[in-house]
Amino acid sequence: VPLRVVVTGGAGYIGSHVVKMLVKSGLEVLILDNLSTTSGENLRFGKFEKVDLGKEERIFQIFSSYKPQAVMHFAAYIVVPESIEKPFKYYYNNVGNTLRLLSAMQRAQVKNFIFSSSAAVYGIPKEVPVKEEADLNPISPYGESKAMVEKILKDMAMAKEINYISLRYFNVAGADPEGELGPSYNQPTHLILRALKTAKGELPYLEIYGTDYPTPDGTCIRDYIHVMDLAKAHLLALDYLLSKGESLVLNCGYGKGYSVREVINTAQKVTAINFEVRETKRRPGDPPVLIADNTRICKILNFQPEYDDLELIIKHTWAWEQKKR
Ligand code: UDP
Repeated sequence: VPLRVVVTGGAGYIGSHVVKMLVKSGLEVLILDNLSTTSGENLRFGKFEKVDLGKEERIFQIFSSYKPQAVMHFAAYIVVPESIEKPFKYYYNNVGNTLRLLSAMQRAQVKNFIFSSSAAVYGIPKEVPVKEEADLNPISPYGESKAMVEKILKDMAMAKEINYISLRYFNVAGADPEGELGPSYNQPTHLILRALKTAKGELPYLEIYGTDYPTPDGTCIRDYIHVMDLAKAHLLALDYLLSKGESLVLNCGYGKGYSVREVINTAQKVTAINFEVRETKRRPGDPPVLIADNTRICKILNFQPEYDDLELIIKHTWAWEQKKR
């Protein structure tokens, strides 16, 4: 019998790419998603039930009858500046609803959990590339919400209430190279996506949020990881969790960074469009440099990136955006 996995947020950008890979590897997938921040265009693989994670009884019933071997939890709010404006919204969903989900899992005796964490848990790291054992000092309610869930998972694992792998995503970008899936946000905030929307003429110009950071060109540096490599990391993590039953926290990035200006130059090259760029003030909650030390995931999961190439990442995203017209 095939493994059964419940994927919360499986209609979203990252979740949908993972769902496709799970289904293509022969697993059964049930997506739970309230479609609150996504268009739903990525619901192409697996089974889907529209449900809000606040509905614990319903989730418990689903777990009791579906009996998944594992839950992958992607559903969350992710916009850093919004989390500073509306912290309660972020804690209520990202922490509160995760607790309800964990409660439903416990009641239905589902023990394996893969959590979508974020490099935002580090805040402004003292050392880059940043290792998993670095101090967690989030500088936004978004990052704080992820760090809080990680702390809960750590204590639960210590007491053998759960087995989990927490994947700390750096900057996820790119799209399905087969063109079936891509970023599906109703309100895109991410740099690469906004650059390409500008190239398409959907935004009048692209803003650079801050040019006075302590970096070589004054703009923030990020570690951009292709969504297909990140999806692969989830499959490796699931394998590890089910075979070893050992909890882990792992950075997901390539171990190198690009500045905002470098990303924009690459986007202009890939699209062959010199869209307008304007420099503006810093965006709250942005650390100057975030780069993963990925030694641990490479070693423990034998993770081998296949799409470690900024130009390719942008090409795949551009192909998706152009397909959408
Ligand atoms: N950024 C920018 N203009 C935009 C969107 C993002 O200058 O229109 C910058 C942002 O300030 C950050 C980097 O690009 O330094 C990456 O931001 P993004 O929102 O893509 O990801 P985050 O690092 O916040 O997860």
